[in-house]
Amino acid sequence: MPFSQFVLKVHSRCDLACDHCYVYEHADTSWSRKARAASDEVLERTAGRIGEHARTHRLPAVHVVLHGGEPLLAGPERLRRAAELLRAALPAGCALDLRIHTNGVLLNRRFLELFAEQGIKVGVSLDGDRLANDRHRLFPDGRSSHAKVLAALALLREPEFRHLYAGLLCTIDVANDPVAVYEALVAERPPRIDFLLPHATWDHPPVAPEGAGPTPYADWLLAVHRHWSERGRPVPVRIFDSVHRTLRGRSSLTESLGLDPADLVVVETDGTLEQADSLKTAYDGAPATGFDVFAHSLDEVARHPGMRERQSGLAGLAAQCRACPVVRSCGGGLYAHRYRTGGGFDHPSVYCGDLLKLITTIRDRVSAPVAVPAQQRRPLTAAHLDELADGLGGPDAVAALGRAQLELSRRLVTAVGAAGGSPAWQLLAETDRTAPGALDAVLAHPYTRAWAVRCLGGEQRADLGGLAELAAAAAARGRAEFELVLPVRAGWLHLPTLGRLRLDGRSEAVLRGGPDGLRCGEHTVGWDRAGDHLWQPVRKVALPGWTLALEDTDPQRDSHQWPAADRLADAELLDWTGALREAWELLGRDLPGYAAGIAAGLATVTPLAPGPDGRDVSAAARQAYGAVGIARPTTAPVLALLLAHEFQHVKLGAVLDLYDLYDPADERLYRAPWRPDPRPLEGLLQGTYAHLAVAAYWASRVRAYDGIRGDAATAARRQLATWRAHTADAIETLAGSGSLTPLGERFAAGMRTGLAPALAVPVGAAAERAAREAVAADLAAWQGAAARR
Ligand code: SF4
Repeated sequence: MPFSQFVLKVHSRCDLACDHCYVYEHADTSWSRKARAASDEVLERTAGRIGEHARTHRLPAVHVVLHGGEPLLAGPERLRRAAELLRAALPAGCALDLRIHTNGVLLNRRFLELFAEQGIKVGVSLDGDRLANDRHRLFPDGRSSHAKVLAALALLREPEFRHLYAGLLCTIDVANDPVAVYEALVAERPPRIDFLLPHATWDHPPVAPEGAGPTPYADWLLAVHRHWSERGRPVPVRIFDSVHRTLRGRSSLTESLGLDPADLVVVETDGTLEQADSLKTAYDGAPATGFDVFAHSLDEVARHPGMRERQSGLAGLAAQCRACPVVRSCGGGLYAHRYRTGGGFDHPSVYCGDLLKLITTIRDRVSAPVAVPAQQRRPLTAAHLDELADGLGGPDAVAALGRAQLELSRRLVTAVGAAGGSPAWQLLAETDRTAPGALDAVLAHPYTRAWAVRCLGGEQRADLGGLAELAAAAAARGRAEFELVLPVRAGWLHLPTLGRLRLDGRSEAVLRGGPDGLRCGEHTVGWDRAGDHLWQPVRKVALPGWTLALEDTDPQRDSHQWPAADRLADAELLDWTGALREAWELLGRDLPGYAAGIAAGLATVTPLAPGPDGRDVSAAARQAYGAVGIARPTTAPVLALLLAHEFQHVKLGAVLDLYDLYDPADERLYRAPWRPDPRPLEGLLQGTYAHLAVAAYWASRVRAYDGIRGDAATAARRQLATWRAHTADAIETLAGSGSLTPLGERFAAGMRTGLAPALAVPVGAAAERAAREAVAADLAAWQGAAARR
């Protein structure tokens, strides 16, 4: 398996003397024999080796961390040289994710300007508040480093550098108060927090205060987890997110959990190639491979037995781990933590008890609703929010959104109708008592909320006929006896969710309902027989696992950005039905992660009038949860793509009804890479979220075309290269806006994770080139438009 993560040691000494440091204070002493700083020659050879490796394995991206000791001691010029050499060595089409991990003490404006210029993201070590940080992170003369690190973080949060802020790394000391540590870290507004277990082995077990229970590290982390969950999980925490993900069968975000094969190699300042740094805790010389960048390729290092063992997944674990119920989440913990003299690494983690308790407790917690104060109660669990942040959202998460929307719709309809005490309102209230399911079906109808919002906004203040229509539709669904006066709009009497009846020449009519059907003058609509020929029912399309309404009767359906189509003729209905069947099959095959949520939440497709010049047009509407409007596209694959795209808007709109993801006071306009006009922050967020599905769709098409040439394959590769570049760009614009709430930042992190599989699909140099040209053209168009504005 090729490497994709590289730790490049640019300096081997440190200006702090932290007593918990695994580089200087643990078993391995090799640091004392290493060059102080990586020379030009080492940097050049390292960049060359990484470039060679990326080329050989056609890697779409490599991740390089500039590390130490303290990497800032290498100085700005050496760091610049490292960044330039790495970038120059990579083949076209291979992205560079370049980061630096620093203790922050020397971090100043000059470094940050360099990092902004070179696109280097910054992770900073901080162990919590001053008390916690001073336990270990001191200068050699015993002075505190805390104030200097906080000053560096304040600089990093300034608008011009904020996008470089990668997160905080905190080594746990269970003597510290977990909540105080967490709050101190959150106060620094990091985009992510990493809690690290202090390195330990069976020879040197983890330190625990006297009187601590058998699992002090789990207890400490679980206290943080509870506090974090109760506050709505405002910032991603890598260890918790990894447990949540692995519990759902997904990959871990850290090598210290899960069964994902290790794909990391370390380059020391003298060019020697080593295994993970954490092995320094095991025994002197443990990380060594005997290889170096001058004489050996990275493929040779990948064949080293130690590397292979760390890539062998379940088979490489001790028998106790292989039989463990949480092994897929735990993965035996960090490899280094399994070491015992005499038995090597064939043991469970020295943190086994802690890991078992941590994972099983979190497993039990995530299936319960997030515990939040009553006034802020939200219907989504933490796991739901995670799924949705990644761009997906399974049936449970989408059903929870649907329940919240139903409640919202109920409140809005109440606000419109309750005050008047009209016969329509009385019928609604009666139906709520006798047939609540029938009323819910009408309240959950997408255009009920759209109507209520219009009424409350004054647009239809005088038109309360909609309330009568809703009440009659609900009572009719409940097979209740009723009599109600309904409006006749442009010759039609409407019953939302059921259909409409042609009644020319009147402005209102009396509708009577009963167990057998409806009667209106001489017209009848029977529940179990063919209705009056003037009755036009809402037509349903039944697909495997999904039934949806093709809405072409509701007078409120004109709620989308484009005009609704008229009632479909029989031939058009047949055409739509066939296209939806085909599109649904494609969604199940190409976007299974999205399809399940669509089936759970998309109840209505409203045909739109053809777009200008025959363009494909489609739109969701914030006030019409569960519906998308689409003009019949020419092909089923386009229909599949539009369904997936628009349902992303539907989901995100429902999330935004519940949670603040951004600061609404931010009135700036932002560049959306796919449009020439600037967008408000919510518009950019909506577009980005929708394009996650677009990138996933094209990634699936490209995978299907693997090894196949031809126009369709070429077009798919270009589409993927373009859309994933646009989406990645937009995610970073959002993350760098400084206007996301902590939960919004969590969404941005989730979107990055959601986009990662699409970014990992190789498309070839030609597609990358074409995409770069397309992206550059889009940027030029935007700049041109900006100059004219
Ligand atoms: S909890 Fe213990 S036994 Fe289970 S996988 Fe982890 S280290 Fe192994």
